[in-house]
Parts: sequence; structure tokens; C-alpha cells
Amino acid sequence: MARAAAGVAKKATLPASGASGLVAASARALKLVRLGLRGDADLVLHLPLRYEDETSVTPIDHAIGGDVVQVEGVVQDCEVQYRPRRQLVVQLADGSGELTLRFLNFYGSQIKQMAVGTRLRVRGELRSGFFGREMVHPKCHVVEEGAPLPDRLTPVYPAGEGLSQTLLRSLITRALKSYPLDDTLPDALRSRYRLMPFGAAVLALHFPQPDVNEAALAERSHPAWIRMKFDELLAQQLSLKRAQQARRERNAPPLRAGGPLVQHFLEQLPFALTGAQQRVWREISADLLARYPMQRLLQGDVGSGKTVVAALAALQAIDNGYQAALMAPTEILADQHFRKLSVWIEALGVPVVWLSGSMKRKARNESQARVESGQARLIIGTHALIQDAVVFENLGLSIVDEQHRFGVAQRLALRAKSDNAGQNQVPHQLMMSATPIPRTLAMTYYADLEVSTIDELPPGRTPVVTRLIDAGRRDEVIARVHAAVLEGRQVYWVCPLIEESEVLQLQTAVDTHAVLSAALPDLMVGLIHGRLPTAEKAEVMDAFTLGAVQVLVSTTVIEVGVDVPNASLMVIEHAERFGLSQLHQLRGRVGRGSAASACILLYQTPLSPTARQRLRTMRETTDGFEIARRDLELRGPGEFLGQRQSGMALLRFADLSSDAWLVDQARDAAVEMLRDHPQLADQHLQRWMGGREEFLKA
Ligand code: ADP
Ligand code: MG
Repeated sequence: MARAAAGVAKKATLPASGASGLVAASARALKLVRLGLRGDADLVLHLPLRYEDETSVTPIDHAIGGDVVQVEGVVQDCEVQYRPRRQLVVQLADGSGELTLRFLNFYGSQIKQMAVGTRLRVRGELRSGFFGREMVHPKCHVVEEGAPLPDRLTPVYPAGEGLSQTLLRSLITRALKSYPLDDTLPDALRSRYRLMPFGAAVLALHFPQPDVNEAALAERSHPAWIRMKFDELLAQQLSLKRAQQARRERNAPPLRAGGPLVQHFLEQLPFALTGAQQRVWREISADLLARYPMQRLLQGDVGSGKTVVAALAALQAIDNGYQAALMAPTEILADQHFRKLSVWIEALGVPVVWLSGSMKRKARNESQARVESGQARLIIGTHALIQDAVVFENLGLSIVDEQHRFGVAQRLALRAKSDNAGQNQVPHQLMMSATPIPRTLAMTYYADLEVSTIDELPPGRTPVVTRLIDAGRRDEVIARVHAAVLEGRQVYWVCPLIEESEVLQLQTAVDTHAVLSAALPDLMVGLIHGRLPTAEKAEVMDAFTLGAVQVLVSTTVIEVGVDVPNASLMVIEHAERFGLSQLHQLRGRVGRGSAASACILLYQTPLSPTARQRLRTMRETTDGFEIARRDLELRGPGEFLGQRQSGMALLRFADLSSDAWLVDQARDAAVEMLRDHPQLADQHLQRWMGGREEFLKA
């Protein structure tokens, strides 16, 4: 890092070519824009990555190898050497000792600049090697004897290619003079949270005082940093709350609770709702009553029973004369929902219709006609639901299962699906996810969603025991599979994820199926993968559900939603290749019945440190929230949320794992500002988002 910055600084000392000045200026503007620097406000908020201490000079013989130090001396010798490779070698002496400077890339002008007798101030990492003390590519400049040292730390800014620190420093200094550094926080808020004034904080970060607490500055715990992080989080909260307000100004059909279908459904259900299911159902049911669209996320660990709650919500819409749609990310999952829900719901006399991309054209047209005429009341399917050709009679509620697997655009498309005869209404939306969002993320990136959480599993489940086994012991595992089947259990055998090639992944599944069929000749071993025609997929799933197939070899297609309570053993091959949430989802396929269940993670050594961490986490906990939290830690929010959710402004300064406490304050402050100081809120958004704010979760 230091070296790169030094290189950039040197380039800038080259004389600028005057003739192409204009071209250079616009090229420079482009580079600035690439860094997000469009105007004064952006420059003011372009805060240092770190600081360099150039306030003192160390005598050469006091400097310790490995330290970054600044020394000053006179050039004794300067020559280009050609062996072992071409390099500029400069000898510097300061009376206390000698130091060798090496430059592997250099310009002719630099040779001149470092002529014998020149006084240089250099800063870099000191190495003590066989040939004495040396620095490679130090940052250096020519000084007069006795030239004053800076009295404060030197900021180092994030810079793109071709933008020197000197240039950024001068642009930022100029911006700080012309941009008004007024506070956008009302005094009362500022003193309540003990925050530094905005102007003072910005100046403290760009021009640290000589007596500043350097450690606090480096760790970003200095009050000036805290103020910046707070402001950034506040801007995010303000924009999300604005989005929420905008949603509340839209119309949705108010759906009354307690209709006959809901009543009958609850009466015929073979089990009682858990306390958690009852609670989330009350929350959802109340939301549906509103005249503005519900936007609620129902999260609950795998197997916590979200489907029943979704069915209840659908029935409340249907009770009120509206249609409901349920969209799932895969055909297998949509099909499972269809089978389960159509049994429950057609028993109440409500027509349920299936819609998927793999349907024959004629069947699909028929389904679409029933959707459009309104004969279909509950529609279940895949992405096919959001195609243009699908027109609803009056969609009142859309439900999206495993919402994180859909892009924002797809969810919006489903919401746009209701015109309701020109009443300008949008349907209520219920999103479901088994990948729980850690609280801090829920409060930041998902702040526009209401969240309901099922935090309790239906009774009678036994926790899944997870074991890590070296792939070399596969024979033992196969013996265990055999024993489990003899006890009347069923087994999933999941093939390794091969991200580079779907074909290869398929081949592995076919091979594994052959190997297991040969090793277990007395058992029925089935095979399922994404490329299988829909009808065959359904056949295999049926056979497994009925127990005719005892061992199911599969690719990751069974990751979500598949529900066969008698399956109590899961083997995952090359578990080290899977992500945490995927492993958790897969493991959730077992432990659904009353039998003791186990999950065997076969791994291949050597393991990378993060793979080891993931496997250890899987062995240590079955709690989906804990797993999500560790996943966030291992991957950071950007990756955790996935590129699917892109378009979302990630945070530059605040760090959700260490600054979670600030999120709470920023959220409360946002509510208060929108209510009492809307103009300041505008100014704040303008400063931090520059009108580029997107409605993060429209
Ligand atoms: P998920 O939240 O993973 O989507 P499901 O809705 O598929 O979970 O439910 C998992 C299993 O638990 C299903 O077989 C479902 O019928 C059953 N189930 C749901 N709620 C209850 C309950 N309250 N009591 C007993 N079993 C339940
Ligand atoms: Mg589910």
C-alpha cells in the first residue's frame, strides 16, 4: 500500500505537458468520477484511508528493520545498476549511518533529481539485509537543510490510478473552503448522542491536530470518525424511511381478517399452530387490513413451518374476494407447495392453479385463462408467474418463497401484476426466507421491510447431530447408510457442488448413483438433478416420499423446501465446497420427523482456513440465526446479501459488526428528523447521497 502510494506521488512530480492540458483535465475528471467524486460534497466526504507520520526524522542508525520510518540525508552516490536486474541505487548518509535506496522502476528525471550532494527526505519500510540498511521504492523528496517538518499526520486518500495524493489533497482543501460545513443535525440530537459538530469532524479527519490520538484515528474510534459513521448510517435510514413513506401513500386492498376460509382451514389442520406461528400470523393478518401495501418478510429457520402461515395469508385474501399468488424459485419447490397446499385448500372448495415454465403450451394457456378469468383463486408456480402473458383478475396478495433467491426486479414484477380494473392498487407482499437476516442487516439494508420471525420449531423434532468425516472413510459412511435403511429410515446423498461446470456436476451425480447402487445392491437408490425432465423429477420425488426409494442421490436441487419427514440421514460430499447457508439449508432436509437425525459432512483435505471455520460452525450449532451471524462475519455484508441485491449502496465508513450500536441511534434519529426537521433531513440526504439515493428496497 505504502509503496503504491509512493509510486503515485513520484509520477506526479513529472512536469505536466502543457499542450494537452484540456484533454488531461477531462481525463482527470473522469478518474475522479470513477472514485465517486463529482462535486465538493463528495470531496469533503472523501476521507483518508490512513495517515502517515512525517512529523519526525529518525537518525539512520536508530531505525529498526521492519519499521516504516522517515530519514533525511545527503546523496553520496547514485547509479543505475544492471545486475541482478536494472535498478537505480542511491546511497544516502546522515552522519549517523548509511542507507541504500533501490528503485526498480524509475524515470530519467529521478536520476537527475537524486544527484550526489542532494539532500533527500525519504520515508519507507526499512530493511536490514546482508548489504546493510536499505529501502525499496521509498517515498522521497528534495529538501533544503533545516526545512521544517510537518507538525501533523499526513492523510493518505483512497486514490484511483493516475490520481496523486498531492492532487487529491489540493482538490479536497479547495472543496473544504467553498463547501458550507453546516451541521445537518439539530443541536438537541447532536448533544443527546454526544456527537462532534460536522465541520469540526471533517476538518479533524482531513487535517489531524498535532496532539490527536493516533490510535483512535487509525482504529476509526475517534469522535470525528464516529460522527461520520453516524451521518452515513443516518442517511441510509432516512432514505429507507422515505421509501417506506412512499409505499404508504400507495393503495392496496384492505383485507378483513377472520373470514370463513381461514376459520375452516384452521379447523381442519392436523396440528395446532406453534406459539411463534400464531404470533406471526397475527402480525401478517393485521398488516393485510391496511389500505397501503404490506411488505413483510417472514423469516424462520428451515422446518419452522412457514408454509402454513403463507396459506393462511392467502386465504385471508381469497376470503375477501381477491386472488393470491405464491412464487417459488425452483420447480421442485413450487411443485411441493402445490401438492401440499392444493390438498389443504381445494378441500375448502378453493380452486388452485399451477403455472410453470416447463408446462406444455396448451396446459399453460389453460392455466393462464383461468387466472385471467378469476376462476383460479390461488396460483402457485415459478418465475412463469411474472411473465407478461400472465394477467390476474384481481391479485390481492403475492407471496415469494425463498425471497433471497430472487432479484429485486423479479419481486417488483410480481407486485406490478395487479391492475384491479384501474383502481391503481398494488397487492400486499409477503416474502419468506429460511436464511435469517442478522438484526443489524435487517435494520439497515432491509429497514423498509416489516419483519416477522418464527423462532420456534414445531414440537417433536429431535436436533440433528452433525459429524465431520474425512472423505477417505467413505466405506464406513456407506455402511452407516445401509444400517439406517434397515432401521426403516431414508437417506439423502448430496453430490458436490461444482461451480465451474453444471455438466461436470451432473456427471458426478450420475457416477455417485452408479457407485452407491453397486455398493448397496439390496436397496433402491434414486437419482434427482436439475436437468431431469419435470415429470421424471416428480416421479423420483414421489417414490422417495412414499418410501419406495430409500437412498436419494441428488445435486443441490433439494436445497430448498423438500419435505420428507422419514428421511433422517444426510450425507454431503465435498462439504468444504459449500457455503454456510447452503449447508444449513441442506441439513434442514433431515430432522423433520421424530427419529434422531444425523448429517455427515464428508470433506477432502487440505482445508482452507475459512472452509475449516464453516465446517466447525456446522458441527457446533444448528441455530440458523447463529449460522447467519457467522456467515456475515466470514463473508461481509456485500457477499452475504449477494450480487442479486446489487444496486444497494454499501456502507463506506460504518462497519456493521463493530458499529451496530450506532445503527440503533441512527434509526431513532431518522424517525425524529423526518418528523421534526424535514428540511435538515433533505439537506442531510443531499450531502450524503447527492440526489443519487435509490430507494433501496422499493
Ligand atoms: P419451512 O418453514 O421450512 O418452509 P414447512 O412449512 O415446510 O417449513 O414445515 C415443515 C414441516 O412441519 C411440514 O411438514 C409442516 O406440515 C410441519 N408443520 C408446520 N407447522 C407445524 C406445527 N405447528 N405442528 C406440527 N407440524 C408442523
Ligand atoms: Mg419452505
